[in-house]
Amino acid sequence: MSSLFITATNTNVGKTYTTIKLIEAFATQGIKVGVYKPIETGVVDFPADANMLLQACQKVNPKFHQLTPYDITAYTFPLVASPFCADIDKTINIQQIVNKYTQLQNYCDLLLIEGAGGLMVPLTDDYFMIDLIPLFKAQTLLVASDTLGSINDTLLSMQALQSRNIAFKWCVNRRTQNDTFEQITKPFYDAYFTQWQTLEALLKDSLFLKSHLHKNKKFML
Ligand code: GDP
Ligand code: MG
Repeated sequence: MSSLFITATNTNVGKTYTTIKLIEAFATQGIKVGVYKPIETGVVDFPADANMLLQACQKVNPKFHQLTPYDITAYTFPLVASPFCADIDKTINIQQIVNKYTQLQNYCDLLLIEGAGGLMVPLTDDYFMIDLIPLFKAQTLLVASDTLGSINDTLLSMQALQSRNIAFKWCVNRRTQNDTFEQITKPFYDAYFTQWQTLEALLKDSLFLKSHLHKNKKFML
């Protein structure tokens, strides 16, 4: 079993979108994929992200058929805020998040985990979203925005990961599909990075997808 943590440079950048696309892409590689959204805030009637993720997962993994959106989350809160602020009664227990992770591992060979917000989103007064990554021993994918301000957000997220020695892959979600990215962001990435990928390219990157397949095979041996 291995896991991949999907984070982003901020909220609303495309973590859920990316995770759903990855569920489909890994499934076409024959990987038995599962999904986990440890904490979702802004949940009044039902957890929207967990619901979308579960529906995508159920299409490719029968072991998720009997689960509800609440089965693939550890905590949900009504307030649209960071978990720390949304968790008014201070109920978050990190061990409970790990327990759910361990439980969901049983249903898949690769567990995709969608974070909440960005990396430095607080869960408790001494635990941040980024701290879940080593706890899960997960590989990491950082999804970057393509809008104005994203260079700064991307570099800061990378620094946070590097400062904790967390290896990661990253990609740019060309969500807005406008020309401004070519002018206001791409020139810097071309100059600064020896290589970088869009999400679209990553989803077709068979080396990336198959690297998880090999890991799974190794695990099963
Ligand atoms: P998150 O908060 O990081 O999980 O962001 P979401 O994945 O929920 O994305 C925010 C909104 O933008 C949602 O309505 C998505 O469907 C939409 N979205 C994100 N990325 C893309 C993209 O690449 N293409 C399209 N068409 N919509 C996107
Ligand atoms: Mg989301």
